[in-house]
Amino acid sequence: MAVYSAPVIDKHGGWLGIVVVMHDISELIRLERVRKDFVANVSHELRTPVTSIRGFSETLMDGAIHDQEAAMQFLEIIHGESGRLEMLIEDLLDLSKIEKEGYSLRLQTVNVQDIIERSIRSVSGRLKNREMTIRSECPPDLCVKGDPERLVQVLVNLLTNAVSYSKPGTPIGVTATVSEGMASIAVTDQGIGIPAEELPRLFERFYRVDRARSRDSGGTGLGLSIVKHLVELHGGTISVKSEPGKGSTFTVNIPLSDN
Ligand code: ADP
Repeated sequence: MAVYSAPVIDKHGGWLGIVVVMHDISELIRLERVRKDFVANVSHELRTPVTSIRGFSETLMDGAIHDQEAAMQFLEIIHGESGRLEMLIEDLLDLSKIEKEGYSLRLQTVNVQDIIERSIRSVSGRLKNREMTIRSECPPDLCVKGDPERLVQVLVNLLTNAVSYSKPGTPIGVTATVSEGMASIAVTDQGIGIPAEELPRLFERFYRVDRARSRDSGGTGLGLSIVKHLVELHGGTISVKSEPGKGSTFTVNIPLSDN
């Protein structure tokens, strides 16, 4: 709370009272904290792979380059970590693009079944070594008002998480239905699940339930915040139900198209 005060004097110099103005700046303070946390998180996320790349390249220069087996192993790590950096930078640029005022979606009538099929095709490479299948169910004529590329991005992010946080061999499902003027698209897995106390913070930037596991799965920690932002730009909502050890369902609601 910022407080300003000033005396009120009449034209003869007599004391009339005092004016006190109280300005609630808690929202400003909160925004400043969010900004600082974000910068600290970005710095940390960038530093981790850079430190690793620097360390392994120095080890190579110090002589490990002459041990072919070790050299190959270190180069693979350098390659993997630079890939992480690339993904992180791409996600950061994308997030700043869609969060900018004036960013607009390319809205058109989009067939939901097409979007689901494109998204499943896009993640199919990840399924091969994990003996996983994705089953989908969608009325063939279900259409929403949306940006097709961005809707595919939403589903690909949710499906990628479903794959990453499930054991090999477990099924994943995508089901679309109509509910209250919206297309409701649910992505369900039978994976590790998320404890109830973590759910409220799940869509925050860089929030992860298990940092080590998320890093192993190659995630940037930005996927769900991008998803939430894109869904809201569509005038839609996202919700999650989850039970540790049983699995999770992320449900996206997008307004139906008018025609
Ligand atoms: P990440 O890149 O780390 O996957 P996300 O923003 O996509 O980042 O997700 C944030 C966190 O939410 C993840 O680190 C993970 O802990 C949790 N999470 C997301 N989806 C699932 C899921 N389907 N099952 C279990 N945990 C999940």
